[in-house]
Amino acid sequence: MVQRGATTLTQVSTHLIWAYCGCGYAAPIDVARLLELPNPPLTVGDVVRRAKCRQCGAVGVSDFRLVWRCASDREA
Ligand SMILES: [Zn+2]
Repeated sequence: MVQRGATTLTQVSTHLIWAYCGCGYAAPIDVARLLELPNPPLTVGDVVRRAKCRQCGAVGVSDFRLVWRCASDREA
């Protein structure tokens, strides 16, 4: 079984990571945009552990979900 969060970002570059905070706030994180950073996080787990909630300021999410981004977003 695959360890949760061990997925590398390059494997899911066309996805959004929906991050859920314990306070009820949820926000989508665009993986493609993360990969454009000078030092991109390596895995999904790295991202969700560092994510900061915009509503309550808590670091780290209580749950997350990978969602395939709509193909119409992509050029090609
Ligand atoms: Zn929160």
